[in-house]
Amino acid sequence: MIPEDEARERVLEAIQALPLERVGLLDALGRHAGTDRLATVPLPGFDNSAMDGYALAFEGETAETGARFILSGEQPAGADRGLSLQPGQAARIFTGAPVPAGTSAVLMQEDAETADGAVIVREAVERGEFIRRAGGDLCVGQRILEAGEKITPQLIGLLASQGLGAKSELEVHRRPRVGIVATGDELVAAGRPLEAGEIYESNSLMLAALVRQTGAEVTGMTHCQDDLDATAAAIDTLLADCDVVILSGGVSVGERDFVKPALGRCGFVTDLWRVAIKPGKPFLFARRADGRVAFGLPGNPVSSLVTFVTMVAPALRKMAGSTAPSLDFTSATAADEMRNGDKRPHYLRGELRMGVFRAIGRQESHALFGLARSNALARVAAGTSIAGGGQVAVLRLGAG
Ligand code: AMP
Ligand code: MG
Repeated sequence: MIPEDEARERVLEAIQALPLERVGLLDALGRHAGTDRLATVPLPGFDNSAMDGYALAFEGETAETGARFILSGEQPAGADRGLSLQPGQAARIFTGAPVPAGTSAVLMQEDAETADGAVIVREAVERGEFIRRAGGDLCVGQRILEAGEKITPQLIGLLASQGLGAKSELEVHRRPRVGIVATGDELVAAGRPLEAGEIYESNSLMLAALVRQTGAEVTGMTHCQDDLDATAAAIDTLLADCDVVILSGGVSVGERDFVKPALGRCGFVTDLWRVAIKPGKPFLFARRADGRVAFGLPGNPVSSLVTFVTMVAPALRKMAGSTAPSLDFTSATAADEMRNGDKRPHYLRGELRMGVFRAIGRQESHALFGLARSNALARVAAGTSIAGGGQVAVLRLGAG
């Protein structure tokens, strides 16, 4: 059995980022940037008002309560009217409007009173107050996007501030294309009644959803019987249009587990098989000379999810161009004691709320209901126990 960390490192080492393509700015959401980008427009672009109020020109550091200023113009947001103020003068001003030349500070409307063409200060204001300075947030030449960084809505906002529009294109890595095979004689597709001994096939849809959540694309899904020829044929069909094949079930040591030999027939070489992780021990990773890779996940639903999250998702993130594709653990407080007497690290399913992790339901590898109620996995290292109130490493589910 290969230690969990070593297995993940070996998988990640074998994976290359996919080539770049150009997509529209909004379609770049969730993709990874192909290149760095530098600011060409400073933020703010000019000194402007942070408030609706009055631009004041005064000498000294403060305009004291009771001070009067002669109103001598108005500057709304938009075109700069080129106003200029002398000490003792004020201009009506609005949020985002360029401040007139000579402005010492902006007095907010709530702190001002007007009478007879003058503004009277009701609350003293310091020099520089409520003026947003040009370049105070972002300077020209500053890096706004780093190659490998994931494009978020807030980054799209920043890019748009630089003059990129909905029709502008961004260079990002191509999305991984993934085919999924569910193996098992006992599995029945939706729409058919269940006979004795049969269950509905549920892993392929769960895995497809997990694949999509990482930002990758599902290009094919199929089910095959526990049969060498059928498994190899299913893999072959999916290979016509994918970078990655994920197989569920049939990867253990039983006589009816055909994933490993079927992958061999399709030109894959097994890189690693059997990882010290609970649940998920039979996990398999294989590669082909053309760079395509395959993952064999144990069929129990919880094992499938745990090995996807801990092994497959990092690989898909690296393919998608992420420069930090590995697991993003955070620390949480354990609600109750968690014991792991095993030689493998144990991933427990549960709820993470306000920094506290609480295990949910049965912690066995077939227990889909408790898994479905969970939003996080807690990792309890081999041969350790964590007391209630102690710290435990957790992975959020759904983080992509
Ligand atoms: P296997 O890894 O093929 O030995 O399967 C282990 C367990 O997971 C068995 O109880 C299977 O019935 C169950 N299982 C395997 N594949 C699926 C699937 N696609 N959907 C639901 N359960 C599955
Ligand atoms: Mg099976």
